[in-house]
Amino acid sequence: MKITAAVSRATTEPPQLEELELGAPRADEVLVRVMAAGVCHTDVRAHAGGGLPVPRPVVLGHEGAGIILQVGSAVQHLQPGDHVVLSGSSCGGCPSCRANLPSYCDEVLPRSFGGQRIDGSSALSAQGERIHGHFFGQSSFATYCLADARGAVRIDKDIPLQVAAPLGCGVITGAGTVLHVFGLRPGASLVVIGAGSVGLSAVMAARLSGASQIITVDPLPQRRALSLELGATATLDAAGDDIVARVRELLPRGADFALNTTAVPAAYETSLQVLGTRGVAGFVTSPAELFTTRLQTLQYGGRSLRGIIGGDAAPQLTIPLLLDHWRQGRFPMDRLITPFHFSDIAQAFAAAKAGQVVKPVLLMEHA
Ligand SMILES: [Zn+2]
Ligand SMILES: [Zn+2]
Repeated sequence: MKITAAVSRATTEPPQLEELELGAPRADEVLVRVMAAGVCHTDVRAHAGGGLPVPRPVVLGHEGAGIILQVGSAVQHLQPGDHVVLSGSSCGGCPSCRANLPSYCDEVLPRSFGGQRIDGSSALSAQGERIHGHFFGQSSFATYCLADARGAVRIDKDIPLQVAAPLGCGVITGAGTVLHVFGLRPGASLVVIGAGSVGLSAVMAARLSGASQIITVDPLPQRRALSLELGATATLDAAGDDIVARVRELLPRGADFALNTTAVPAAYETSLQVLGTRGVAGFVTSPAELFTTRLQTLQYGGRSLRGIIGGDAAPQLTIPLLLDHWRQGRFPMDRLITPFHFSDIAQAFAAAKAGQVVKPVLLMEHA
């Protein structure tokens, strides 16, 4: 079928809307009319070509939400007309998949960044030219996409798809880290470095979990202000404050948990320095630089540094759970989004890069 998709060709130009041909769904895929797709920093980084090598030309997008039009022959849990949020792609058979931790699937890298199905094929083409797709098993910067059915999560039809779309990656990463990785209990303390969509989702989940102190760190005043509205108890200026000293004033014994959502090299050390005894520092993105730290910081006090993908969430369970909290007013993730017309994808990318908006969401128009 003919679709309109945002194609990343040159790294120096924003993705351009083009008419492409999309093939039919395979047995384990679903055809989705995409209604909304969040822009994640992983899309911006993959488009820029730095650190995340994805073959080109490619259609990015991995926070899609839409309506199922057709299901593959092996798909049991979905049917045409269902509303879905698209998370990632996973094999279903490796130990991590069997443990319901699909973001650590043995095949997560080729399935997310390979630009093709695991068998090497791509469903996308432009007048015979191969276009890479299947980014995170979806490539949802498009009016229609083929999604990996395992990563497609059915949601209630009254939920606005533009609100639900960021659950596929950014929101579930931040909230999942608090709920699943940290298992944050009432009374615990958390420092969040970087108040973007992942960091603010962690703030909302920490408030939901009864955290006693939630401290955010960000250079942008509007994000610091939003973090206070969403549940932070204190906020610090990453550009002006001595973060470790200020956290120690607020939390003399240090924090139970720290989440660094940035790729700023110094922030990894800061996330360890603010921890108290037996504290855990998590991170969700990795700069190319080597990281060195004094190992005594980790050993004495039993601290740990934990790499995290997808918040250790099982999207089929965690996405409906977060939507229940949203519906009940306890997880106001709609406060994070700024809608953009699909044709304004260049502006959405620029706004995301500059931090002017927390979570741009592209809205696809259908005749
Ligand atoms: Zn797997
Ligand atoms: Zn993402």
